[in-house]
Amino acid sequence: MKINALNLTNFRNIASLELQPAEHVNIIYGDNAQGKTNLIEALWLLTGAKSFRGAKDAELLQFGSGFAKVSASFFKEGRDQTAEILFTAKKQAQLNEIALPSVTGLAGIFCAVVFSPSHLSLIQDGPSARRRFADTCICQISPKFIALMSDYNRTLLQRNSLLKDISYSSYLLDTLDVWDDRLACLSALIVKNRKQYIQRLAVHAGEIYSGISSKKETLQMRYLAAGGLTDDVPDGQYKEWFLQALGQARAEDLKTGCTSVGPHRDDIDFEINGMNVRSFGSQGQQRSSVLALKLAESRLIRELLHDEPVILLDDVMSELDKSRQDYLLNHLSENQVFITCCDKGYFDALQNGKAFHMVKGRLQNEEC
Ligand code: ATP
Ligand code: MG
Repeated sequence: MKINALNLTNFRNIASLELQPAEHVNIIYGDNAQGKTNLIEALWLLTGAKSFRGAKDAELLQFGSGFAKVSASFFKEGRDQTAEILFTAKKQAQLNEIALPSVTGLAGIFCAVVFSPSHLSLIQDGPSARRRFADTCICQISPKFIALMSDYNRTLLQRNSLLKDISYSSYLLDTLDVWDDRLACLSALIVKNRKQYIQRLAVHAGEIYSGISSKKETLQMRYLAAGGLTDDVPDGQYKEWFLQALGQARAEDLKTGCTSVGPHRDDIDFEINGMNVRSFGSQGQQRSSVLALKLAESRLIRELLHDEPVILLDDVMSELDKSRQDYLLNHLSENQVFITCCDKGYFDALQNGKAFHMVKGRLQNEEC
């Protein structure tokens, strides 16, 4: 898909803005606190997802304003389409001027991948950030996974509260087998989906990282299932494996009141040239790894959904050397890309695209 025009009204510090982007690379440059990330955030919200900054909807309305509006016209599936979100006390979305029951109705229609510095948490934080990343990606390509995850989380909560109840109502112990069976079944499906997705993502991420690093480094990633579920266990046997593991952990789980086995404990491992990126990677290597991951996600969307997502890169250039910056500016041209940065100098390396100058929430000038 390609965005033809973006219009914002009362969105954070942007009172009114109209942007007609280039088909390929668009650079939004400007000093700090001018509204560059706000623009990227507005674009991202059109995917129907929540703000990547973790912002509440009320925070998106310009101070003192009763509403905010984000709308875009875009070309997808051979025709021009429109998407709009109106933020008032509640959110209302429209697709092609028809009201949607919820903004999540835009998911999978307005397709984008976003990188912001907060996404470095994917490498730097604990495993839950990586699991969330994998789950969000899988949900984009397979909406059934949303229901699977919420079923799993509900079942896990119910098993945990049963574990606690058993300590003072021991007759409830008989009911634990039913929950174990359900949890093992859901765990097997989740791990199978996640492993398959990460395997496919790893191939693309490896290729992209090799390009970013001018073939000097190799990135490897793999799904780490907790509790010793090794790669030689065939996925057809996952349910039995989880049932057995839950059985073995039962005594301990009853003591702690917590389920110690399952996909809520899994992780994803990243290595550059065989070295763990979280523990030993430089800032540039960590940033490049997350970028490779995000760009790999966009390639998988293309492969599986046959769409080219818009790529949103907020403040990505700092900490990257010239050759890595050059890769981003000139090797992603199959997609429409929006890149924010403070320094207009990056524009010099751009071979094909537009640059926009953001000043106090206004796009001041435009150069091609
Ligand atoms: P940096 O280069 O530092 O990342 P930026 O250009 O990306 O800067 P933004 O994060 O887009 O800056 O924020 C720009 C400004 O928007 C900030 O000064 C902030 O105070 C302002 N702002 C945030 N929310 C609102 C709001 N709801 N209403 C009005 N202004 C807001
Ligand atoms: Mg910013």
